[in-house]
Amino acid sequence: MLKVLKERFKQGKCTIAYPAGDAPPLPNRFRGYPAIDRSKCPDNCRACIDACPVGAVSFVVSSALSCNDKTIQIDLGKCLFCTECTDACTGKAISFTKNHELSKHKRENLILKAGETMNVETGLDKKIKKLFGRSLKLRQVSAGGCNGCEADINVLSTIVYDLGRFGIQFVASPRHADGLLITGPVTENMKLALEKTYAAVPSPKLVIAAGACAISGGPYIGHCQANNGADSIVPVDLYIPGCPPHPLTTLHGLLMLKK
Ligand code: SF4
Ligand code: SF4
Repeated sequence: MLKVLKERFKQGKCTIAYPAGDAPPLPNRFRGYPAIDRSKCPDNCRACIDACPVGAVSFVVSSALSCNDKTIQIDLGKCLFCTECTDACTGKAISFTKNHELSKHKRENLILKAGETMNVETGLDKKIKKLFGRSLKLRQVSAGGCNGCEADINVLSTIVYDLGRFGIQFVASPRHADGLLITGPVTENMKLALEKTYAAVPSPKLVIAAGACAISGGPYIGHCQANNGADSIVPVDLYIPGCPPHPLTTLHGLLMLKK
């Protein structure tokens, strides 16, 4: 016991200061909010669209005056942050910043057009925020997927992130929960289990879709045994993009429910 205490003393304070202080430095390979500079695109180029394995990049008409005036958009709800598009882009028009704050309350606000920055949101209903502002108990539902999301969500319960300090905890029973945190595309095998778990959470309740799978189906999009995300089965209040979302991205998203 003395040895353990000595070691802990030696380690000092491990919990990150975020959000009161700065976020910890992220590794070079971290990919956050994308930036699209359409002015760098060569004429008639569609290399990024062709390279994307999940159809997250598309053309969109940018002017009401001419349907030939197209720009690019990325659907962050589908994006796997795999960088196939940036590798294929000859003009270096797409890049990924280190901004980890990706979560949105509305699905449509996950679509980022070239030249745009963050979409402004009105946020959750004030009454809901008042109800869950001090304490939020979540039941996690793993509805298919590869378990990458769950692994990074588990990190939030370590002393580095210490999710409990915000009054947010994962609970074993949906009857004790204020809401669900869903990962995976909702496979056919998990559909009924998700519906029953949702019904078991007392109202009012919140639903969070974490990861590309839970938002859109992710790499399983369009598969006959997947349901292309949680909101095809239950109403979703918060979308946390990523494949998997970095723990900081998830933490930022969860704290959006309490602001
Ligand atoms: S990073 Fe996202 S948008 Fe780019 S190719 Fe991968 S999935 Fe598609
Ligand atoms: S979003 Fe990515 S990491 Fe998460 S379950 Fe799906 S494939 Fe795995």
